Amino acid sequence: MKTPNFSILNFKESIFATMTKMAQKNAAINLSQGFPDFDGPPWLMDLVTEAMKSGHNQYAPTHGIVELRKTLAQTYKKIYGLEFDPMDEITITNGATEAIFCTIMALVNPADEVIVLEPFYDSYVATLNLARAKIIPVTLYRKEFRWRIEELTQAFSDKTKLIILNNPHNPTGKVFTREELETIIHLAEQYDAYILSDEVYEFLTFDGVAHLPIATLMKAIERTVTISSAGKTFGVTGWKIGWILACGAISHHIRMIHQFNTFSVCTPMQWGVNQALQRLDEYLPTFRRLYQEKRDFFCQGLIEASYLPIIPKGTYFTVAPIGQLTQLHDVGHCMELIERKKVAAIPPSVFYLKSQEGQEYIRFCFAKKAETLEKALQNLKSRL
Ligand code: PMP
Ligand code: GLN
Repeated sequence: MKTPNFSILNFKESIFATMTKMAQKNAAINLSQGFPDFDGPPWLMDLVTEAMKSGHNQYAPTHGIVELRKTLAQTYKKIYGLEFDPMDEITITNGATEAIFCTIMALVNPADEVIVLEPFYDSYVATLNLARAKIIPVTLYRKEFRWRIEELTQAFSDKTKLIILNNPHNPTGKVFTREELETIIHLAEQYDAYILSDEVYEFLTFDGVAHLPIATLMKAIERTVTISSAGKTFGVTGWKIGWILACGAISHHIRMIHQFNTFSVCTPMQWGVNQALQRLDEYLPTFRRLYQEKRDFFCQGLIEASYLPIIPKGTYFTVAPIGQLTQLHDVGHCMELIERKKVAAIPPSVFYLKSQEGQEYIRFCFAKKAETLEKALQNLKSRL
């Protein structure tokens, strides 16, 4: 047989799928792949059932149902003061993953340089490889997960087409400061680069830290594609309703890809999310409190289990250095944890292209029921 697209020849199965399968095979508690092991609020499910019963079951318009786009426009205006025209500047996608794919495919030509901050979310690099981009990794160094400014500055050139930012940041739980975001904007403006800002954890920030969309700062809105998704906010990662906010010209390019990728997105789910977003004000405080409690409980337990977790300011992940516990690297330690302690975590070295730092820590997801976290901590503390 002839060879397939050579861009995929080096692709491996995603680490999230691999670790979840290994957790199942070893009957281990799965703190690897990021998803809650409990359902979103029951009223949410009723909204979708209602939408289905009301006949919202045929193709949605390719850009997404107008009602959801209008609700998103109102939501982003109210929360952040951001103004997006629902007709031309908001597009509904099959989760943030499709949004990332369409954005990269719409903006990046072969050999264009794209700056990726590492550790990165795995789909960025895979999609950039499909686009045949030249990936320029810039490391965020532990413990603060900050870049070295010379490294960031040197990464930019006239060939830089795009920089990808993820804020709040998976896997580290870092929330970027205003100063850091402004540094990115200055450089992007200087080299006329687009900014893709993946903000799927925008409502999962802790200790009173407020999420600051990069598009709200300076003139970033002109060059920024902001991506988010309902999966994390409403605890329904399987719903796969995401969205892209970008000025009309950029949105137009992205929509050209989206229409031939999925064309449109699950209709009743869009209606459900549209209704759910109207309840955001009453929903968010309880949601944030719940996850902050989980974070505090789990990180405290990790300390008792001799890990030294870096307490995240956002997301539902925590990373913990392993050097004081084992001679093994991240992958070896994760294997040992799954087999001996029956707990699955993520080895982050796959999220790096340049630095070896990923070998020195592991990632846990704490979006789990109290009993799941308790059991996992018991296992981690044991001498099995
Ligand atoms: N970006 C980041 C940083 C993520 O962690 C995830 C995964 N949950 C996604 C994008 C994908 O989101 P979705 O499930 O909406 O496609
Ligand atoms: N975002 C999730 C994580 O970081 C996984 C999503 C996926 O499995 N593709 O674990």
